[in-house]
Amino acid sequence: MNVKDCLFCKFVRGEIAPKKVHEDTHVLAFHDINPQAPTHVLVIPKEHVASLDELEAKHADLGGKLLVGVAETARVLGLKSYRCIVNTGKEAGQTVFHVHVHVLSGRHFTWPPG
Ligand code: 5GP
Ligand code: ZN
Repeated sequence: MNVKDCLFCKFVRGEIAPKKVHEDTHVLAFHDINPQAPTHVLVIPKEHVASLDELEAKHADLGGKLLVGVAETARVLGLKSYRCIVNTGKEAGQTVFHVHVHVLSGRHFTWPPG
């Protein structure tokens, strides 16, 4: 999957408009099209990295900005408690290969996760 064809890169470039929650220079947060909780938002870096598995030392800033983006998104939504998930690789359930953090809230979550 290259940057041109990547769905989430199309969101970043504005070719497709997701339901945005938060945006800054480095990250974009938008509602998931198939929510698994009353609140289900995806937070992505604007730079294309396919998966958490591809992060290297040179991405340390991107990784930090992504996590700060998660916290900002939670504040924008007024979330008091939420679960963050990063599916990494097909076996773990990753279907879109542009790294993203799922932010879920508004219901009870079990542990261990399914
Ligand atoms: P993954 O399975 O890779 O961890 O998560 C990908 C997420 O992207 C899924 O929860 C899926 O519902 C969401 N998704 C897929 N296509 C679209 C879309 O076109 N718009 C939005 N907002 N979310 C999408
Ligand atoms: Zn991408």
